[in-house]
Amino acid sequence: KEFGEISIKDLDQLARSSFPLCMRHLFDKLREDHHLKHGGRMQLGLFLKGVGLRMEDALAFWKAEFSQKVGAERFDKEYAYSIRHNYGKEGKRTDYTPYSCQKIISLTPGVGDHHGCPYRHFSEENLSAALGRMGVGSRAMEDVLDKVRNRHYQLACTLTFEAVHGSSCDAGINHPNQYFSDSHKILQP
Ligand code: SF4
Repeated sequence: KEFGEISIKDLDQLARSSFPLCMRHLFDKLREDHHLKHGGRMQLGLFLKGVGLRMEDALAFWKAEFSQKVGAERFDKEYAYSIRHNYGKEGKRTDYTPYSCQKIISLTPGVGDHHGCPYRHFSEENLSAALGRMGVGSRAMEDVLDKVRNRHYQLACTLTFEAVHGSSCDAGINHPNQYFSDSHKILQP
């Protein structure tokens, strides 16, 4: 898909079918809590920009969630800026790039944060539960957890991709937006 072709109404379906676990977790938490802390807003916001959500749609999407928690006025005052900023419309007008796996894995999420890489930052119990919800069967799950125990987080993500798509990913996963586009190619060729 080209930039600008993803619309808000497709997001829930795409999150389920084609988001890597790191982004699906942030997306689900945002829907559940109607809030994400700064690190989560950056990681998910730049990813969504990378999949092709336009700035106007991004503002509407984040506002619809945050308004339920902090109110529309506070969203406009305190949060809209950083979304426009991600799109290079504020501040130094840098066009910020979505985070790579390497960067996400190196982050250090604190209490109440939902960003980072679940393969690295979740407990084994939470990770197994999340993988189960993604549809990873018990056999593949063992292989994934084995990679995690050996600290091969991107390989664990690659095996998850292969398990849920029933298709190989020879290049391996090195970027959440690559996970998304590879998934999209398989599901909507
Ligand atoms: Fe996200 Fe990369 Fe971790 Fe997969 S390996 S969950 S794409 S950060």
